[in-house]
Amino acid sequence: MIIGTPLRALNKKTAFKFPDRCVNCGQPKAELLGLSLDLGTQAKIPNLQIQVPMCKVCADKERRVAMVTLIPFLVAGLLIGIAVCVPVALVAPEGTTIQTQAFPLVLGAFAGLIGGTLGGSLVEFVVKMLAAPFYGKLLLQRPLTAVSLFSARDDLIGLSARLSSADQTLQLIFENDEIAREFAQLNPQETP
Ligand SMILES: [Zn+2]
Repeated sequence: MIIGTPLRALNKKTAFKFPDRCVNCGQPKAELLGLSLDLGTQAKIPNLQIQVPMCKVCADKERRVAMVTLIPFLVAGLLIGIAVCVPVALVAPEGTTIQTQAFPLVLGAFAGLIGGTLGGSLVEFVVKMLAAPFYGKLLLQRPLTAVSLFSARDDLIGLSARLSSADQTLQLIFENDEIAREFAQLNPQETP
C-alpha cells in the first residue's frame, strides 16, 4: 500500500507518527531504524529523516539485507571484473608510442568495470529473487546497487520511501497494509 504526501506539505515540523509496533510484521516495537531521503528543491526542507519502529527480528533482518544486495554485487562484480579484465588486457594490442603503451591495461580495466558491474548486478538480481520470500516482496523493488547511487529513495524491510518527481509527492510504500492503514489514521493531515 502506497501513502503519498505532497512535497510542499513537508517542513521542519514534519514528524510522521507510526503505530507503536514493527512496521513490517506488527510485533511489539524494539527499536527505531532511520530512513533518510533527499527531497530536492520542491520541499521546504532539503532532507527528510524518518524514524521507523521495528521489532528485533526485523531490525536484525534489515541489518543483514546487505548479504543479499551489496555483498553479492561486490563479490561477483569483482570476480567477474577480474575475469574480464585479464584476458582483454592480454589480447589487446600494445601501442607503439609511449602514450599508447598502456592501452591494453586501460582497455582491460574498462572492460572489467563494465563486465563487473553488469555481472555483479545480474548475480545480485538472482540472489534477491531467491531471498525475497524471507525478506519480503519490497526487497524486489529495491534498485540494484549499481542503480541505487542515482535514485532518490531509501528502503527498509517493510517500508520504502521514495520521491515521485512526476507528481511531486513523497511516497511511503508499506509491505503491511494493516500498518499502512493505521499510519494513515495517525497522520491525517499528511495524507490527502
Ligand atoms: Zn518485525
